Amino acid sequence: MHTRYGRPEQVLDRAFDVLAGLGEVVRSPIIRSDPVGPSRRRYANAAALLECELAPDALLTRLKAIERDFGRRKLAPRWGARVLDLDIVLWSGGNWANRDLAVPHVAFRDRAFVLGPAAAVVPDWRDPVTGLAVRHLHSRLTRPRPLLRDPLWSGR
Ligand code: ADP
Ligand code: MG
Repeated sequence: MHTRYGRPEQVLDRAFDVLAGLGEVVRSPIIRSDPVGPSRRRYANAAALLECELAPDALLTRLKAIERDFGRRKLAPRWGARVLDLDIVLWSGGNWANRDLAVPHVAFRDRAFVLGPAAAVVPDWRDPVTGLAVRHLHSRLTRPRPLLRDPLWSGR
């Protein structure tokens, strides 16, 4: 519960509104997740498709300003009092990298809390690195995996 913006879902609703100031926005549903890390905070996640003319580095500058406006402090512990985390997951121009920014986001293929909401808005958008569509990356991550065979088991 953030004193100014309320519950995580309300923070995201408000953040969607702010993003809409940058361009056309399509919102995903907001997904609540279980508490993570020592602070046991609850999280809410969502994805947005944003259509704007900003290059990724210029967009990141704007996103960081929005995070600051929501009270995220640079020195807060990683799992501590972070109010809002805005990441650029994919970009219509493909790959982008500089010292502060890598697009596609390096970890997004391993994060169901990113891929779930993203699959709701851009299921067919392809990751330029793997060539896989968002919906495919999501199902690859969330489908049950067969048990690994014990290497010491002889088959008897
Ligand atoms: P994460 O978003 O992986 O949980 P942080 O938000 O703490 O991690 O990371 C912050 C830094 O990550 C930003 O200051 C930014 O420079 C860098 N960064 C690199 N790639 C991206 C990206 N695609 N989107 C947002 N931030 C990124
Ligand atoms: Mg981030």
